[in-house]
Amino acid sequence: MRVLERKLNIPEKPESIVLDLQSAGFETYIVGGAVRDLLLGTEPKDFDISTSATPEEIREFFGRKRARIIGKRFRLVHLHTKGELFEVSTFRQNPNPQSDETDQDSGNSAMILSDNNFGSAEDDAWRRDFTVNALFYNPENHTIIDYTGNGIDDINSGVVRAIGDPDVRFAEDPVRLLRALKLVAQYNFSLSATTENALFRKIDLLQSASISRLSLEFEKILQSGCCEKYLQTFHDYGMLKFFLPTLDSLWGSPYIEEMLDLLDERSERIYRKLYRNSVSLVLAICAIPVLKQEIKCEPGVIWDSRLASMPIIQNAVEQAVRPLTPVQRIKESAFHILKQLPSLTILDDKNKAFQMSKHSYTHARELLMIYASQFLENYSTLADYWPGFKPSRPKHRRKPGKHHS
Ligand code: ATP
Ligand code: MG
Repeated sequence: MRVLERKLNIPEKPESIVLDLQSAGFETYIVGGAVRDLLLGTEPKDFDISTSATPEEIREFFGRKRARIIGKRFRLVHLHTKGELFEVSTFRQNPNPQSDETDQDSGNSAMILSDNNFGSAEDDAWRRDFTVNALFYNPENHTIIDYTGNGIDDINSGVVRAIGDPDVRFAEDPVRLLRALKLVAQYNFSLSATTENALFRKIDLLQSASISRLSLEFEKILQSGCCEKYLQTFHDYGMLKFFLPTLDSLWGSPYIEEMLDLLDERSERIYRKLYRNSVSLVLAICAIPVLKQEIKCEPGVIWDSRLASMPIIQNAVEQAVRPLTPVQRIKESAFHILKQLPSLTILDDKNKAFQMSKHSYTHARELLMIYASQFLENYSTLADYWPGFKPSRPKHRRKPGKHHS
């Protein structure tokens, strides 16, 4: 175990939850991705809190109005604090994979189905997936506790290292295979040699991973603001076929290159705050290769709406995500974007002006702007009838292989 004294910038709300629980006598920390991200100098997505208080004790302490116990496989508390939601979980031990709770049906006897054995803070660190995800921060005395002893060094040198025996840890929960590569893609980290070897040995287990958990991770990836890096990294490691088989089968085609260019542009526009982060917009872009393959439309141009009937678009969206099951609302919205997009380029000037100003077309307009920014030579006349037309930058193409590891 190592302890590092360092003040991290924790927002007021999560800090006050930690301090309140501490003052009630419960050992409590900020944990997981937030500590990792603050040490890396990036903005955390969320602040997870871990405590010695049981879910019932947390609910008792904050009251039923603010605190709700959720989850079955992993029970935790959703705590509402001034309009914001935080996840507060109780310290756990690594479950015993030989217990009755493991999966008898999938043929993977190591797989853990339930994880509700409470334990100490140290137990809780050791049951986490990677050393960089197992740091505990105490905002009361500004210390970071590194129970595995490798977490801080691994953050500094950019290494993803499984905690414990990586073969065992991947077998216990195949979603960790995906989580390892997310860290590689997101931060340009590399896998430690033993973790990498185990990943290749265990990658087939993704076939037996729960579709609903993979779908949840997929939604997080869509939301991430660097989707193209994830997809390229998954492909590089041979993982994409378990996850998004249709896109994997098209990999290397000009349609995939176009998709990566569009996703790259979309990430850039979010980063520069030119547009908001829309999950359905990303999903629409991911369905374009499938759609264009079907109707044989060149990369860089927007298809003729007469070629892309509603069933064809619907099928493209379904195929692109199959076998995953993202929420229906996201799929429907992606469908509408793809349906509306060509009409923005073919109607007469009066209709165009109308659509360009219409609220319901905002995502489709943004996709048109993304096309125009990536393939400006095809869209230079847009400025004539679209007063707000402003491509984000002169033509910039993603360099092939830029994201290879
Ligand atoms: P981000 O939220 O930025 O995607 P994160 O690492 O915080 O990344 P979460 O899904 O929020 O990811 O999980 C919070 C923490 O819970 C992780 O940092 C890790 O310590 C632990 N954790 C999550 N999933 C697993 C898992 N499958 N096995 C072991 N530990 C896990
Ligand atoms: Mg998190």
